[in-house]
Amino acid sequence: MAGQFVIPIFEERILMIEFELTEDHKALTQTVREFAQKEVAPFIKEWDEKQEFHPEVLKKMGDLNLLGVCVPEEYGGAGFDYISLGLVCEELEAVDTFMRVVMSVHTGLNSLTLYSWGTEDQKRKYLVPQAKGEKLATYGLTEPGAGSDVVGSRSTARRDGDEYVLNGEKMWISLADVADNFLFFCWTDEEKRRKRDHSGMSCFIVERSMKGFSSGTIHGKLGIRAGNTGYFSLQDVRVPKENLVGEEGEGFKIAMFALEQGRYTVAAGATGVIRASRDASVSYALQRETFGTKIANHQLVKQKIAEMESDYQMSHLLWLRAGYLKNTGQANGRATSLAKWQATVRSEKAASMAIEVHGANGYSNDYPVERYLRNCKAAIIYEGTRDIHTLMQADWALGLKTEKPARKSLPPWKAAESER
Ligand SMILES: Cc1cc2nc3c(=O)[nH]c(=O)nc-3n(C[C@H](O)[C@H](O)[C@H](O)COP(=O)(O)OP(=O)(O)OC[C@H]3O[C@@H](n4cnc5c(N)ncnc54)[C@H](O)[C@@H]3O)c2cc1C
Repeated sequence: MAGQFVIPIFEERILMIEFELTEDHKALTQTVREFAQKEVAPFIKEWDEKQEFHPEVLKKMGDLNLLGVCVPEEYGGAGFDYISLGLVCEELEAVDTFMRVVMSVHTGLNSLTLYSWGTEDQKRKYLVPQAKGEKLATYGLTEPGAGSDVVGSRSTARRDGDEYVLNGEKMWISLADVADNFLFFCWTDEEKRRKRDHSGMSCFIVERSMKGFSSGTIHGKLGIRAGNTGYFSLQDVRVPKENLVGEEGEGFKIAMFALEQGRYTVAAGATGVIRASRDASVSYALQRETFGTKIANHQLVKQKIAEMESDYQMSHLLWLRAGYLKNTGQANGRATSLAKWQATVRSEKAASMAIEVHGANGYSNDYPVERYLRNCKAAIIYEGTRDIHTLMQADWALGLKTEKPARKSLPPWKAAESER
């Protein structure tokens, strides 16, 4: 079959991947590439240096419908599929990570979660303005004392009549100091918290404007300096019971579902870093000369470029496979984790190699590659650290962990299915 390859995956399935992008995919890729080149590339060195966050970029991303790219049209989105979301993330992070982080938390972790778990009223009230880019949203799981160990968190919610009273502190939250809407994960069952039983956790929608909300920005970060990362605190914040997402006790499951969407965007974005590292290295190697020849002619420089190329292609295929599984409503936790783990680790390797190809120049911010290295490190930490993904992959391979079926499908999955 022209344009199709058969890829055996895991032990029990054969997967067909259509490599040909649709005309919509190609047009979207072109639009995002042009946008990032025009609106961000010329300024990013300065924004990164000054640690400046530029909300007008997000406004433009909203105008292009990127913030709701795979949210159905009926909820204010562009109605595209998961491959489109991946393409957007790869293109954006090839220029700078801060834009892809917005896609990860606003679109992946928050909006797609609301789409799958929210009530109709929640979707109308929160998802529609988020998908249109009128409101900015994020995801608050991590706390000062608990990151990987989600059940070690301490935030709480107590039911009081028709309201819940929320308390807690969230740390290392992307967009914490600028977002309008937050998904807040906390304990609604103190007994279960003590027993570390995650069925005592719940998820709520919180608005910045609610009384008792406060936030701040974390300064002095290694990378993603043009982005906003911070903390927020809730002190006796009263939210209507209608802001509970899912049922009481479903918070952990919702948090994990959200991470499956976020990890996918991280995988595709990290793939963009590998591509950018390769492209910068190729361009430099073709003009820099040592020992009377272009450095591109030295075998060890070629080796680095060859590794970046293979890492790029492998990472691209891995996120594409995860996107295909998402599009077709199939279980994808294992594939998404693998894509995220491999792309992020390979992006660090590629950015580091790119610095070496540039020699001392790579060590200066006159060239973008040092920024790539500083930016990509965080993705090895968030949405499951390298260690956590390594352990999960081993457990899946060893049969100690089983793949859960995809819980709720999005309409684009059906659209993708019917096109075949
Ligand atoms: C730039 C940035 C943006 C972020 N944005 C968000 C956001 O928007 N929302 C949000 O909720 N969080 C966010 N985070 C937080 C991120 O998800 C956490 O930092 C991450 O989950 C790791 O948690 P931790 O930092 O507490 O590290 P820890 O969990 O304390 O881990 C420390 C080290 O121990 C290792 N480790 C821990 N447990 C195990 C284990 N069982 N086995 C083996 N090794 C283990 C880890 O791999 C790591 O190397 C962000 C972080 C960064 C850096």
